[in-house]
Amino acid sequence: MREYWNSTKVICTIGPACNSRKVIKELILAGMDIARFNFSHGKPADHVKYIKLVKAAAQELKSPVAILQDLPGPKIRLGELTEESIYLNQGQIFTLTSRKVIGTNSEVCVNHSAFIQELKKDNIVYLNDGLVKLQVISTNQEKAVCSVLLGGRIYPRKGVSCPNQFFKMSSVTAYDLKCLKYGIEAGVDFIAVSFVQQAKDIIKAKNYLNKRKKHISVVAKIERKVAFQDIDNIINVSDAIMVARGDLGIEADLEDVPFLQKEIIRKCNAVGKPVITATQMLESMVVSPQPTRAEVTDVANAILDGTDALMLSEETAVGKYPVQTLKMMLKIANRAEKKLCAKQKELSLAESGTENLVSAFSRAAVNISNKLNAQAIIAPTHSAKAISWLSRCRPQAMIVGVTTDQNVLKQMIMYWGVYPLLMPKFAKLGKTLDDCIKLTKKNGLVKPKDTVLVMLTEDNQLFLSNIMEVRRI
Ligand code: PEP
Repeated sequence: MREYWNSTKVICTIGPACNSRKVIKELILAGMDIARFNFSHGKPADHVKYIKLVKAAAQELKSPVAILQDLPGPKIRLGELTEESIYLNQGQIFTLTSRKVIGTNSEVCVNHSAFIQELKKDNIVYLNDGLVKLQVISTNQEKAVCSVLLGGRIYPRKGVSCPNQFFKMSSVTAYDLKCLKYGIEAGVDFIAVSFVQQAKDIIKAKNYLNKRKKHISVVAKIERKVAFQDIDNIINVSDAIMVARGDLGIEADLEDVPFLQKEIIRKCNAVGKPVITATQMLESMVVSPQPTRAEVTDVANAILDGTDALMLSEETAVGKYPVQTLKMMLKIANRAEKKLCAKQKELSLAESGTENLVSAFSRAAVNISNKLNAQAIIAPTHSAKAISWLSRCRPQAMIVGVTTDQNVLKQMIMYWGVYPLLMPKFAKLGKTLDDCIKLTKKNGLVKPKDTVLVMLTEDNQLFLSNIMEVRRI
C-alpha cells in the first residue's frame, strides 16, 4: 500500500529518469495516481514495455494506478538543418517548404505538408517555440515565402506554430492511430488528444475506440487558441480536459495563460469534468532539489482554483529528482487541499445554478459529512456520475467510489478526492451498502469508531433508490 493518500491527483510522465522498476515502485508508493506516456518521444514499442512495468508494479503494491497515453497529434516541427543552428536576421526572406530539404539560411522543411498548404498570406508563424516570428508574404502548394519580423536562432526539429489559424487537418493523425493500436494492446486507461481544435477531434477518437469496443477515456489537451471557440462542446464530449500550458503559452500571449487556465478550470468544475493542469509546475526541480517560491505558489493556486489533477512532465521523465519532485508536489497539494476544504465549508457549498437530483443529493451528502467530520463518503456506482458531483463539492472526507467495473475504477482515479475500490459483485441493496463499508475497512481507509456516510443515487445505474445513511463503524 502507498504511504500517502492525496485528494489532488498527480500524473507523472515516465521517461529515462524513472523507467526502472525501482523508481516506478518508489513513485507509486509516494502517491503517483496516473503514469503518462508521451508518444511524441521515443518508440511506441518501448512505451509498451514501460506500461507493462508500471502495471505490474501497481498490482504488486496493490495501488490503483491508471495509464495515460499522450498522443503526439499534428505538432508542426522544423526539419533538419545543415548546421546545429541557423540565425535568421530581421527583415530577411525565409521560406517554409514541404519539400524534404536540409534547411539553410533561406529555406527549411516542415514535417506536415498540410500545414504549408493551408497557410495564407499575412499569417504570422512562430519558430523555435515562439522565439522567432515570420509573416507569410506568398504561398503555393509546397511553400510559404515569409518575411522575418523578429530574428533569432532556429534549431532542427523545434516547434512551429500559427496561432489563431484553424487548420482543416485533423488533430488525430494517421501516426496517432498507429500509436493508439499500441496503447490499446497495452491496455491504457486514458488517451490524450493533442492540439484539439474542436469537439469533432474528440468525437473522431471516441468513434475509433467505440468501433473497437474499447472503454478508454479521452482527454482533450487544450493548447491551441482556436479551441476556445468550441470549448464548451469540447468539454462536453471529453472525459477530462488538460490545460497544456507548454504549447498554449506559445499560441497565446504568455500573460493570458493564467486567465485561460482559470477559464478552463471554472468551466470544467461547473459541469463536473476532471481537469488537469500541466507543464512546468515544478520545472526548476529538473535540476534542483528545491522548487522556486513561484512554482510552489503556482501549484497551490491551481488547486485552489479547482484543478483535479496536476501533471509532472520533464520533472519526472528526465529530471534529476523524480521522486523528490512528486513528494514535494504532494506536500504542497496537501496544504492547499486543507485550505480549499475550509473555504468550501464557509461557502456552504454554494449551489451551481443547474441542480438535478444527483447534484443536490451529492451536495447535501458533502454538507452532512463535513458537519459530522466524517472520514469517508462511500458511494457504490456503475458510472462515475455521482462520484463527479461529490468530487466537485471538494469534501473534507475521502470519497470512496466502489465499482464492479475495471474501466469505471480507472476512470475514477482522475477525480479529485476519490479513492476507487473494486468489488467483485454487488449483492442486494442493503447488503451492498454493508459490503462497501467492509471493503473500505479492509483497505485500511477507515477504522473503528469512524463516521462514514454511504450514498446511493439512482444515477449509479445499480438500484433505483436514493439513499443517504450515516453510520458509526
Ligand atoms: C503541453 O504542451 O503543455 C503539453 C502537456 O504537451 P506536450 O508535453 O506533449 O508538449
